[in-house]
Amino acid sequence: MTPGVRPLIAGNWKMHGTLRDAAALAEAVRAGAPAVVERADLLLCPPFVHLHVVAASMAWKPVALGAQDCAAQEKGAHTGDVSAPMLADAGCGYVILGHSERRADHGETDALVRAKAAAAIAAGLVPVICVGESEAQRDAGQAEDVVAAQVAGSLPEGFAAAKGVVAYEPVWAIGTGRTPTEADIAAMHARLRREVSAGQGDATTRLLYGGSVKPGNAAAILALPNVDGALVGGASLVAADFLAIAAAVAAG
Ligand code: PEP
Repeated sequence: MTPGVRPLIAGNWKMHGTLRDAAALAEAVRAGAPAVVERADLLLCPPFVHLHVVAASMAWKPVALGAQDCAAQEKGAHTGDVSAPMLADAGCGYVILGHSERRADHGETDALVRAKAAAAIAAGLVPVICVGESEAQRDAGQAEDVVAAQVAGSLPEGFAAAKGVVAYEPVWAIGTGRTPTEADIAAMHARLRREVSAGQGDATTRLLYGGSVKPGNAAAILALPNVDGALVGGASLVAADFLAIAAAVAAG
């Protein structure tokens, strides 16, 4: 953790479930949230078409709502896209941008992620910008430099003032059950802190770790210096697991 920084535990539901599943999951998180919100902010990021049921469940705001992407444009002829102002209007406070699955599936570049983040900030949303190296890049000893370049290329002006968040997610750890060693996470987050502070972030920018975070490894990861929370994929689809990860934040 970074002293004085409130942790954030974010759930990325990806492309899973039905409307009914989303409502049930949101309700289960809402029911368990009072036990953990004193330790950490909670954020749920359902698919676009499920945002409204999660927003309804979160009406009394123990938990924030976010989307998994937004367009770089404010409005217009962009079939299939969803703009940042639309997300704000739908009740979102956050948006995940530059997730490695979007970088891989849709060829998203740092420049596009930066443009999307600027659009998000203009709409009053907090961008959660994902960065992380591939396994080949780590094996080649390039992990820190790859992440530093992504930070330099993806964070727009105004990021610090908007309380933007950066999530370090090694691509090879996402959904695989594998995680870097605690020493490797700590080393990366120390570098991330330097790069973010030297760029568009600052010393209080929240730096999340993501990649196979589970109730069993959360406490150790969340206790590391400069790890200010987690971005959770698979485990966020089980309310008890997501809440257990949030409960693993050390009482501060
Ligand atoms: C993610 O996709 O952001 C993620 C961290 O997934 P998982 O927790 O399943 O590895």
